[in-house]
Amino acid sequence: MKTETGARQRIGLFGGTFNPVHIGHLRCAEEIREQFALHRVVFVPSFMPPHKKEPGVEPQHRCAMARLAIAGNPCFELSDIELQREGNSYSCDTISHFRRESAPGSELFFIIGSDAFSEVHTWRRYPEFFEHCGFIVMSRAGSCAAPPLNLPGSAARIFTRLDEDTYEHQCGTRIFFARVSALEISSTDIRARAACGRTISYLVTPSVERYIREKGLYR
Ligand code: ATP
Ligand code: MG
Repeated sequence: MKTETGARQRIGLFGGTFNPVHIGHLRCAEEIREQFALHRVVFVPSFMPPHKKEPGVEPQHRCAMARLAIAGNPCFELSDIELQREGNSYSCDTISHFRRESAPGSELFFIIGSDAFSEVHTWRRYPEFFEHCGFIVMSRAGSCAAPPLNLPGSAARIFTRLDEDTYEHQCGTRIFFARVSALEISSTDIRARAACGRTISYLVTPSVERYIREKGLYR
């Protein structure tokens, strides 16, 4: 992760199960990259998401599909750090990893959909992980997690509202609520369609569609 020049960068970390990665993920990541002038967005597929049941499709496949999907975008990267670590994929460990690996002064932002953010209080090391990384919370069609910040426990009190969409932690990190195009696309829906032999064209990239067909996934 350390750049050759050691230059400070604004880096987005986009964690997910990506089972499979779809156009919603790609478009939202691209909009966030633009809105927040990120140098890079790193897709981080989970090995074992702690809050979901076993994804069924092996992490290597989910990772391979994410790699295919982002190919050609010079600002998108893939990290298999959670696969290397194995076991439960805790975001706090991933954030610590990138904090260690990035050039000093780099700014890290964890990119997350509003549906997933509404469960953030159940994550390991809540709420300390807010001290180590900024958060960009993307609007998601059908999900209501939006400002005001509704964090359980004492966590909300350690944030100050700076403007309509921005909260600042007492240590200086920020939570941004960002509007992205409402694309009602989910991996759950794609898996359901594939399972009954329906088309998934234009919901995933052609490369991912081909991979799913060739490997016989989600049948
Ligand atoms: P599943 O239905 O299996 O939960 P998903 O489509 O929600 O899959 P995830 O891998 O769970 O995909 O999502 C990774 C991250 O991307 C989450 O933070 C999620 O909120 C966000 N996300 C996924 N799809 C969208 C979308 N269409 N718009 C905005 N955010 C999204
Ligand atoms: Mg999800």
